[in-house]
Amino acid sequence: MQKVILASRNKGKIREIGAILAKCGMEVVSRDDAGIDTFEVEETGSTFEENSYIKAKAILDIAGVPTIADDSGIMVDALNGEPGVYSARFAGEDCTPLDNNIKMLDLLKDVPDEERGAKFVSVITMLFPDGRQLVARGEVCGKLIHEMRGEHGFGYDPLFVPDGYECTFGEMDPEEKNRMSHRAASLNKLEEMLMEL
Ligand code: IMP
Repeated sequence: MQKVILASRNKGKIREIGAILAKCGMEVVSRDDAGIDTFEVEETGSTFEENSYIKAKAILDIAGVPTIADDSGIMVDALNGEPGVYSARFAGEDCTPLDNNIKMLDLLKDVPDEERGAKFVSVITMLFPDGRQLVARGEVCGKLIHEMRGEHGFGYDPLFVPDGYECTFGEMDPEEKNRMSHRAASLNKLEEMLMEL
């Protein structure tokens, strides 16, 4: 089986991406399991595409086998697409998800409902030693409400109501979120691309 190293330590991502690559005869190994655990890759890009490429390339250069990395975040219309690639550190370097949500609510406090559009974005980049590269982008559109609702999920989920729904991602059954999320969309695209290889 072709080994593919995932530039992430997130167990959920390893499972999800592993299941898709298995269908294509590939085995996903986390960077820790591949023994590439001694350095942190700096996410210096200004787009999700750049950051996922930077992470995948750093591991490819060391391991010389195919690599996969993802990058994701939320883009808010009223903030001209911010925080985007800075979603995790929106309220500061060592901030918590709660800090980020409080900052978001504060910045949007005077923004009316019809201008509270936002989207989650996920980009997955897969690089091969021979130079081939696959880039899959998934998005889910919705709006940000005026208070946090729901205990499920993570990050900005308690503020985000996807289009066509009344509940936030934080209130939604996690399985349903996982079926319709930006990550599901990018993973589906990656699967289609791999099938065509
Ligand atoms: P990463 O790509 O896993 O590093 O995620 C970047 C940041 O984007 C996270 O720390 C969250 O703040 C935000 N984010 C990405 N995906 C989601 C999601 O599905 N729900 C809520 N927040 C998310």
